[in-house]
Amino acid sequence: MADDSGSSIAGETGPRGWGADGEPAALAAVATSLPDAVLVVDALARVGWCNRAAERLFGLTAEQAIGANGLEFIHPDDLQLAALALTSVQAKEVGTPLELRVRSTDGWKLVEMIGAPLGDDLLLSVRDLTERRRWEVAGDEVARFRSLMQNAASVTMLLTREGIVESSSGGLTRLLGIDQEWLEGRPLADVVDELDQPILAAALRSVQIARPERAPAPAPVTIDVRLCHANGATVPFALTLTDLLDDPTVAGLVVTGHDISDRVAAESDLRAANSVLSATLESTADGILVVDHAGRITSSNSRFAEMWRLPPGVLDSRDDNLALAYVLEQLCDPEAFVAKVQGLYEEPEAHSHDTLEFNDGRVFERDSLPQRIDGLVVGRVWSFRDVSEHRRLQNELTHQAFHDPLTGLANQALFRDRVDHAATRLQRHGGHLAVLFIDLDDFKTVNDSLGHSAGDRLLVIVSERLSNCLRAGDTAARLGGDEFAVLMDELRDADEATMVAERIIAALQEPVVLDSLQISPTASIGIAYGSSGAGSDEMLRNADLAMYTAKAGGKNCARVFAHEMHRAAVERLDFEAHLRGAAERGELVVHYQPIHELRTGRITALEALVRWEHPERGCVAPLAFIPFAEETGLIDEIGQHVLVAACEEARAWKAAVGGAAPAISVNVAPRQLLDPRLPDRVEALLDQCGLDADRLILEITEGALMKDPAAATLGLERLSRLGVRLAVDDFGTGYSSLAYLQQFPVDLLKIDRSFVNNMLTRPGSLLVQAIVQISHTLGLVAVAEGVENQAQADALATFGCDLAQGFHLGRPLDAASTRELISRAGPAAADQAAIATSR
Ligand code: C2E
Ligand code: MG
Ligand code: MG
Repeated sequence: MADDSGSSIAGETGPRGWGADGEPAALAAVATSLPDAVLVVDALARVGWCNRAAERLFGLTAEQAIGANGLEFIHPDDLQLAALALTSVQAKEVGTPLELRVRSTDGWKLVEMIGAPLGDDLLLSVRDLTERRRWEVAGDEVARFRSLMQNAASVTMLLTREGIVESSSGGLTRLLGIDQEWLEGRPLADVVDELDQPILAAALRSVQIARPERAPAPAPVTIDVRLCHANGATVPFALTLTDLLDDPTVAGLVVTGHDISDRVAAESDLRAANSVLSATLESTADGILVVDHAGRITSSNSRFAEMWRLPPGVLDSRDDNLALAYVLEQLCDPEAFVAKVQGLYEEPEAHSHDTLEFNDGRVFERDSLPQRIDGLVVGRVWSFRDVSEHRRLQNELTHQAFHDPLTGLANQALFRDRVDHAATRLQRHGGHLAVLFIDLDDFKTVNDSLGHSAGDRLLVIVSERLSNCLRAGDTAARLGGDEFAVLMDELRDADEATMVAERIIAALQEPVVLDSLQISPTASIGIAYGSSGAGSDEMLRNADLAMYTAKAGGKNCARVFAHEMHRAAVERLDFEAHLRGAAERGELVVHYQPIHELRTGRITALEALVRWEHPERGCVAPLAFIPFAEETGLIDEIGQHVLVAACEEARAWKAAVGGAAPAISVNVAPRQLLDPRLPDRVEALLDQCGLDADRLILEITEGALMKDPAAATLGLERLSRLGVRLAVDDFGTGYSSLAYLQQFPVDLLKIDRSFVNNMLTRPGSLLVQAIVQISHTLGLVAVAEGVENQAQADALATFGCDLAQGFHLGRPLDAASTRELISRAGPAAADQAAIATSR
């Protein structure tokens, strides 16, 4: 350190104004040798002079110290305290002692500093407290405590009853930049933000309340207020006011305060998070309810009240039981609801998801989760989602998947399912069960002639009538097209199903008006009884077979399934298998029946009639296999085979007679007529056989014309353009519509055998006369079928009927016999006249 003299310091660099002129040199020596460090600093805190003790304290020589900035020696945390003291001391004679940390070459030292103005400068007396304080701290709890107070990160103040600050701790300066001395003697309110002054005032009032002597002091009051920082900002503080007015050692209000900026910021963040949470809660479409362990409602959203239709105030009561009372009366199964809630409260950790059904049809999905705070379950969150619309759609889709959209009856899938279930029950518990297979008779005709919308209307009417005939618990279904089915479960006895089937037949027959046309719908019904082990497949198949038998048995009736039907069906299959390819195997042969001109008795044409020479059954008549071939589509190959065989035969006749040969008349099935390939095939065939088109007559039934009039017209017109002649076969047995006779390009009208059969009675005779008349009026050639005796032939001739065929005139003959017959008869030139005059 510096040399011992120190006078040189005083002499050379003594404080301005004294010592320099040497007059009070003795005084300067005193100052130099003072045991306390003494420094003189100017207004900018620059060191102007220092004594030896100062040199020792800071570990610097006077040369090093002089000119240095005094503030640089002060601990940064104490800087503000020192700076404020420096400014305030100017107004005083002697400042308040300050405890500060200063830097020396040995490290930080705790000093007590007192300032006094010295002209424009400042005289600072600095005493090293480090050692003393260490000793004090080691041996004196009070000193230790005071040090804590002074350096604590909080502010402590002593206030008078009126709220005037008597003293404060260093925290005031450190935390708020306020000079302790400045505040002394001022009301605390002076450093409280204006907006928070009422809070402070209220707190002061509460501790100021006069109380009876020896009454216990009131509990400390804590308030959150903003204190004003010297820099103009405000700092949030929590101040605790403790009334120690009665304590003689304190006799004041002790106020402790600490900076709560972090807490306030956290609270603000929390508020922001809460606002997001509550906005989310309110904006969700789900109803949410939070209940604690004690059954108190701790939170809910308005959607919850709305969904559960709770009157206002119920949720405000926070009573979960009260809310529950409103909830339960709306539910289909309140007991289950209560049981579930109780179950979940017994298992706080459990999660659950279920569905609630309401009396008014609404459906909610309910989810429940435990509510946790720091991992601990404190309650339960319930959320409710209204899925009524979703459920409704789902039900609608399910209904659509299992019902017929037109009639609303069960569809095939649902029906089979019900039959299977009933069959299982039957197997377990016994009883009777029946399946009815119902097929409308001639529905196709309604559809074809009146159109599909009329057909649909009829199906709806039928479904209604059907349902009305059933008992509760029976299932009616539409299997498709005009096929319906009924499942009768738990029958008292087997006859019950037959009775119901008869009821259905009777109910269906009631006339229906469709497009101003009155019809009486009829149906053929097959009944199959349930037997052990029979599922829906077997029962439906059996009922179908029985229905088929009912159809074959004349329609409009019911038949109960019998095992023979199964055999018959198997035979039918076998029959079909044989018929297929019969033409190729040469089993189909064509016979020819002559058609005579009544006037001359000559053969003008021959009708080709097919026969099946079955290897086992012998000769099978066409009516035994043609309808079946028509049904199965085999008619295509059979029809074409007959057409080719007949035309080739006609070519042979031409050669045999050497002149105009009789025409060939071939039956054409409805399916063939509607086949657009027919005209081309016919044209090619005529060409191939060298036949004139007018040598070919095609016989068509009325039914074929009605089936699809548009397609029939198209086919007939193309055939007619070829020059082929067209005959309406079996006239009178079908629709006998005069309108279509005009509409279609037909040339001949074949009067059905049944009329000829009856014509020797008076009404029968009139009818045949009328048909002949109509034929001629329409320019058609009249042909009588089934002439079995001379009397019929005579009568027909009298009526002016042109042509006739029948066993009396000639039976169908095989090809060879026919050729012989034709050769004998010779050219048929004259016979052409009758036909040539037609149309
Ligand atoms: P169809 O076209 O009305 O033919 C006349 C039917 O009456 C023939 O029966 C014939 O043998 C029968 N017949 C003729 N004269 C008399 C008589 O005096 N008394 C009685 N009782 N019957 C008589 P067949 O050959 O059994 O044919 C029945 C039906 O089969 C035909 O009726 C026709 O509709 C159909 N058919 C025959 N061959 C063919 C064919 O190649 N194709 C098509 N699609 N149908 C055919
Ligand atoms: Mg015919
Ligand atoms: Mg006929």
